Amino acid sequence: MNLHKYHSSIKPLRKAIDALPVTPGSYALLLQLRQRERLAVGKLGIFDFLPGEYVYFGSARGSGGIRARLGRHLRGAGKLHWHIDFLRTSARVSGYFYLSDDVVAELPVRTRRSLECIWSQRCAQNRLFQLAAPGFGASDCINRCESHLYRFSERDVSTDAIRSMMADAVGVGSACIVGAFV
Ligand SMILES: [Zn+2]
Repeated sequence: MNLHKYHSSIKPLRKAIDALPVTPGSYALLLQLRQRERLAVGKLGIFDFLPGEYVYFGSARGSGGIRARLGRHLRGAGKLHWHIDFLRTSARVSGYFYLSDDVVAELPVRTRRSLECIWSQRCAQNRLFQLAAPGFGASDCINRCESHLYRFSERDVSTDAIRSMMADAVGVGSACIVGAFV
């Protein structure tokens, strides 16, 4: 066992979590699934997830804000509560983007509605993103999103393209969308 490698992979993760803001906000979680998996997703049902890249859009409005929520996804710990927790048991987190509500507060009112829905609907309209599991993450969605989870191929969609799409959909510069890759 390569201990040095093991330790060097843990430390940046802790650093990455510590660097996250405690403000509320919205985010995209990027996941990678190496092989096909049949997974039970809580009460939503059982789905076959194909190998590839996935993007999940959510919001972090609980105590601890973005750091608490993304930290939970990054560690992959805790009870299986949200739909994404079930996919996280088999998929690796490869990165994330977030937009703090501090930044959103400066924007025109019309763009303040659930950003995770604006982003999800952008993906739903883009043929490079596939609906992975109907209803995923959208049980409480008031904007009638088909899903808050989409699958894509890294051959077709770069992480930069996702960041640009998120910025464009909300009407902010790409620099407002903070990202990191793990
Ligand atoms: Zn939605």
